[in-house]
Amino acid sequence: MGLEELYREVILDHYRNPRNQGHLEHPQASAQGVNPLCGDEITIEVSFDGDKVSEVAVDGQGCSISQSSASMMTEAIKGKSRKEINKLVGRFRQMMSLDEGDDLGLDPERPGAVLGDIEALQGVRQYPVRIKCASLGWNTLLEALDA
Ligand code: ZN
Repeated sequence: MGLEELYREVILDHYRNPRNQGHLEHPQASAQGVNPLCGDEITIEVSFDGDKVSEVAVDGQGCSISQSSASMMTEAIKGKSRKEINKLVGRFRQMMSLDEGDDLGLDPERPGAVLGDIEALQGVRQYPVRIKCASLGWNTLLEALDA
């Protein structure tokens, strides 16, 4: 299985079986985001244990990129502090803006090496219109954390 095919499988898996889907009973923070270009909608709810995210839920509809990216995001942020999450979001954004041809996997300081499943979204940066889809959940998360 080629890398592109593997990435596609990962994205489809998160799209078909979204993680942490639904709503929290008593969210401590929440935000809604829309990407009108594509019609993607996402609601994110978060609860904290101290400074760390203890629970996160996402509800939304839209294209496979937006929904799978949000699903991956929820898995990646559980148990992490705001500081760690900011770092993760930074790496995600870095990945989305990298030039074609850069190798993400080799250098541990490069985003692909630490993002896990999220790495599968790196192919999206070849399609600038879809970057907004992939970023929606992340931007909405930041809004929820700032609120
Ligand atoms: Zn979309």
